[in-house]
Formats: sequence, structure tokens, C-alpha cells
Amino acid sequence: MLHADKVNRTVLFPFGFHRLGNDSVVAISATGDYTFLSQVELLALIESPDSLALERRAELQSKFFLRGQSSTGSSQLLLSRIITKKETVTGGASLHILVPTLQCEHSCQYCQVSRSLDATGYSMTPKQVTAACKTIFQSPAKTLTIEFQGGDPLIRFDLIQQAIEQALEINETEQRNLRFVITSTLHQLTPDICDYLKKYNVYLSTSLDGPASTIGIDQIQSVIPMNEPWMESPWRVGSWATTPSQR
Ligand code: SF4
Repeated sequence: MLHADKVNRTVLFPFGFHRLGNDSVVAISATGDYTFLSQVELLALIESPDSLALERRAELQSKFFLRGQSSTGSSQLLLSRIITKKETVTGGASLHILVPTLQCEHSCQYCQVSRSLDATGYSMTPKQVTAACKTIFQSPAKTLTIEFQGGDPLIRFDLIQQAIEQALEINETEQRNLRFVITSTLHQLTPDICDYLKKYNVYLSTSLDGPASTIGIDQIQSVIPMNEPWMESPWRVGSWATTPSQR
């Protein structure tokens, strides 16, 4: 690691580098951002960063190799990025993914999940769900997010219910901040499921795939009628992520 040094109007943050060839190095900043530099650029970065081209300097500042001499906010931001990066190590894992089932009714070309809803061996057993819940609480993190993914996890809503209720029961003594998220196509939703998700404050995360013409808000409303119970405010739909249209 090289150490910070004030040079003219630009300050160098600590960074490391690894030589790739005679005239190429990969430089890694304290935040883990990286860039490729020529030998000349490396020397310029160390000895006179202000001599670097403006565009290059801007890139290096955005990746926490440099900061303006009067820009103390950058140092605080760097500190915050490092703390966030190490939080998982010091505070324990906070995000836990449970996959109740690998089955899904959809047929996305890029996905390898099981299409056959009659097949066996693609879902967790209740015993495994119990074991998973206990394992999650082995993390010392104050906030635990349990995210259900799949396949389409709502196909095994019974297992989701089991996990939520067991986690809440364990939490009566653990007293962590618990958060539940279901990543789903939403096609399995029923009014009863909606009531349950509202009751337990469960977030939904979904995506609408397809060309731009089919994922505008008007189309969303035509695909998912606004009088569905889960569309009522203040329902917690975690995201309306969309995917590129060119497939
Ligand atoms: S909706 Fe998701 S889980 Fe289902 S086939 Fe498509 S990518 Fe796979």
C-alpha cells in the first residue's frame, strides 16, 4: 500500500497495485474499486496527480484514488464505504436467502428451474426450513433480512409461512430487526396470501420482463388490475424492476 500524500491541489488516497506487464498495472483503491494504468500514469498518479488528464483524474476521484485538497467530504465518504464493506465481517451476515422451491410456472429461456410442478425433490422439506431458520439466527447481525427466492417461492407458500412464523417465534427471545422479502412473479397471489403478507409486513420484489411497450405503467395496470387487494395503499411492493427489451 502506498500512503496518502498531498500533491498540489489533489490528495492521493492509499492504494495498492499489481503489475500485469511491462507497461500495465491494475491499481486497487481502499474501497476495492480498480483501474488499469500505464507505467507513466502510475508514476504520474503517485508523483503529480494534477498532471493527469482531467477525465482520468475524474475517474480516479470517483474510484477513491484521489480527492481534491479541500474536499474533506470525500474522506468521510471513503470511510463510510470501507465501514460498509467490512460490516458483513464485523457485524455478521444480514441478508439470508431461502429457496423454498426451485419450481416455477414460467419458462424464461435463460432459467434452469424445474417447469414440472408435479416433480418431487425440488422443494425444501419442513425440517430443512426449521434448520434454516435456526441457522439464520446464528448470525450476530442486529438486522436480519430473510428473502424468499426460487423458482417462484409463492408456489410453496406453506413453507414461506412456516419460515416466517418460526423466525418470529425465535425472535421473541433474539429481539433482532426482522425483515421479510418475497421475490416472485406474483402470479400465485390470492386475496388470502395478500392478507397474510400484509399482516406480517412482508415486502414483495418482482420484475416485469419484456419490451418497453409492455412495461410502461399503463401496461402494468392492465396486466395487474388496480382493484387487486394488494394494490391498495399502503401495500409494500419492493420494486418494479424491469429488464432490457432486446432479447
Ligand atoms: S420467472 Fe424466474 S424462476 Fe421462473 S422461469 Fe423465469 S427466471 Fe426462472
